[in-house]
Amino acid sequence: MGVTFSIATKAELCREANGRKCCALAECYGLLLYCNTFTPQEIKLITENRALVTRLPRLFRRAFGFPIGAPVRRPGRATKYVFSLTDEEKISRIFDAFGLTGDTLVALHINLAVLEEECCRASFLRGAFLAGGSVTDPAKRYHLELVTDHFNVSRQTYSLLLEMGFEPKESSRGGNFIVYFKQSSAIEDFLTLIGAPVAAMELMALKVEKDMRNTINRKVNCDTANVSKTVEAAMQQIQAIGIIERTTGLDALPQKLRETARLRLANPEMSLSELAAASGMTKSCLSHRMRKIIEISLTLK
Ligand SMILES: [Zn+2]
Repeated sequence: MGVTFSIATKAELCREANGRKCCALAECYGLLLYCNTFTPQEIKLITENRALVTRLPRLFRRAFGFPIGAPVRRPGRATKYVFSLTDEEKISRIFDAFGLTGDTLVALHINLAVLEEECCRASFLRGAFLAGGSVTDPAKRYHLELVTDHFNVSRQTYSLLLEMGFEPKESSRGGNFIVYFKQSSAIEDFLTLIGAPVAAMELMALKVEKDMRNTINRKVNCDTANVSKTVEAAMQQIQAIGIIERTTGLDALPQKLRETARLRLANPEMSLSELAAASGMTKSCLSHRMRKIIEISLTLK
């Protein structure tokens, strides 16, 4: 697949509805503090993410009452889109919305008053991740990070995450400050919180598969070979559901298939028999529906 896990995750986040105005504002705050330039003279955000290119102008309009102008397309190995705002009056309205003065030093920290509500904290982190975050393909290793060149912003994001019950780590690299997670469960929780439950599920399914394979490597016997088949089947189903979610969305499925998809996502580790028992369906009926889901995903690829 040409689409990396990080890009797919961001595309999923960009499908999240803009929601309440307080949250749109908080998401913009995360985007701006983690973007390329955020000063009283200029706001500049450079992204390769097409989904963000669509989301950003709407988000700005919702938060500030005016859209950020159309981006300039910068072709290259990977096409980049540059959003730039230099209208100082508009920028000062943005600073006002965050309760900041036009002083650069003041801008470079998080005004926690904007993030009092839980919904807004999640939105802030979504914005920060969309502008300055990345997540490694979980098939390789578990790593999610938020990168900014503002020391205070990074420190305060770290504290905010601690306060929210996470256990992030900190580091720096070439003048940038990084808050990161290395544990799969923390990455899952973070992704779910900021609005990417499908990415979190894929990560969880991969983790289950990895753990199972490790178990199999430790004690090879007939039983574990069956377990491996179970895991492979579940993986295939979850990937198919992921493809549908990313293209048409699960809501496009007929109701019965949608229910089956949700059931599978909620129980990634169960065998088909266990899933059938849990749902009160027959195994053959469930198996038929799973096949349908996989067929649909193949037409979408
Ligand atoms: Zn909110």
